Amino acid sequence: MELDTVAAISTPPGEGAIAMIRISGDEAVAIGDRVYRGHKKLREVDTHTIHYGNLVKPATNETVEEVMVSVLRAPKTFTREDIVEINVHGGVVSTDRVLQLVLTEGARLAEPGEFTKRAFLNGRIDLSQAEGVMDMIRAKTDRAMNVAMKQVEGRLARQIKSLRTELLEAIAHVEVNIDYPEFDAESVTLERLEKQITDVRKEIEQLLATAHQGKILREGLATAIIGRPNVGKSSLMNALVQDNRAIVTEIPGTTRDVLEEYVNVKGVPLRLVDTAGIRETEDTVEKLGVERSRQALSDAELVLFVLNASEPLTPEDEALFTAIADFNAVVILNKNDLTPDIDEDQVRKLVGDRPLVTTSLLKDEGIEDLEAAIAHLFFDEGVEGTEMNYVSNTRHIALLNQAKEMIDEALEAAQADMPVDMVQIDVTRAWEHLGEIVGETAPDQLIDQLFSQFCLGK
Ligand code: GDP
Ligand code: ZN
Repeated sequence: MELDTVAAISTPPGEGAIAMIRISGDEAVAIGDRVYRGHKKLREVDTHTIHYGNLVKPATNETVEEVMVSVLRAPKTFTREDIVEINVHGGVVSTDRVLQLVLTEGARLAEPGEFTKRAFLNGRIDLSQAEGVMDMIRAKTDRAMNVAMKQVEGRLARQIKSLRTELLEAIAHVEVNIDYPEFDAESVTLERLEKQITDVRKEIEQLLATAHQGKILREGLATAIIGRPNVGKSSLMNALVQDNRAIVTEIPGTTRDVLEEYVNVKGVPLRLVDTAGIRETEDTVEKLGVERSRQALSDAELVLFVLNASEPLTPEDEALFTAIADFNAVVILNKNDLTPDIDEDQVRKLVGDRPLVTTSLLKDEGIEDLEAAIAHLFFDEGVEGTEMNYVSNTRHIALLNQAKEMIDEALEAAQADMPVDMVQIDVTRAWEHLGEIVGETAPDQLIDQLFSQFCLGK
């Protein structure tokens, strides 16, 4: 595969003690040598070594920067290509200057994710691992990070590949039956095939069962804080943000939605939406009425509904109870430090099965209970720390569903006594869908693999 040489700033934008510009491709070392002046030429140094020197403009030999340069030769590199990494003093100006110099000398500016894409194109990682790298960069919590890391390690890929092997074996047996019908009665072949693909189907279902939690971990749970003016929504927001500073990674080239704030509640990443209104603290101009709350509800996956325990329930409160009827919600009885004036029995009736938590946000009380209630709503205690594979990527989920559907069709065809090669077509489709997850499916490959694994001696 012919790929050109690309370069990009690989450290986060902004100021830092050091920054790093990475060049990857056949020309990486040559480009490095055009701008680097040090003890040795970079083309002469050992691979995986680091060198002190200056960067200069080749035309004038004018020094641009003092640098440390690493030379990493293919294939033992992240992209499997030659890589030169230039470490410079952090700072927007110096980093940009060095990048510009490298681009002038013949590198192309890398697209977002292009180094990882190259690692895939050059066969170092598969598609699901590449996607895991992206997820790791975007991870908002430790737990999301762990899910992504497992994917990068190739755990999901291994499981998918082993499922594909099982399907391939099932297909191969059918193939034997078609070519040598005297070996096996067709009914025996079908029975074996049914059993094999039913096993695969079971495993796909188990993977899909993690999809809901996996997606929450990956994308965060869209959370709306609602309630009448003055009940304590801003206070709740602040309490959650203070207690649970989320790991937020700035992704170069993306603009973060200013209306969102991430918090990490016992491993559950909450994406607090539409916080611009909620964040407002001057409550004399509080505009967040019932209408606004309804809007905030529209895409919510979790609702935190705040009531004021020191006042009687109002028709607005009751209207909001109706509005959240179909939502995952935790009801919060706030201002517990004041003299209670709310009808708790009535509240309990309206709350029903949902968790009810009492807080005094003013005194910082009850927040632990609230967090426990949220975590409990989405994760059984048992799930934490287990070694299971999560599927978190929408593309993977869609492909797993498609593969499952194809297996279902194959099973139906088999039970309807359709010809065995008809069944085989459905199983092949399932195999292809799974192959798309790891980026392997190509029709030619199916044939190649079939014959390489099961030599039929023709
Ligand atoms: P919002 O309008 O729903 O966002 O409510 P705020 O969070 O802005 O709070 C409204 C007022 O209630 C503020 O003066 C808060 O300090 C106060 N407040 C919030 N929580 C409590 C609480 O638990 N107890 C008491 N006594 N006051 C609270
Ligand atoms: Zn407010």
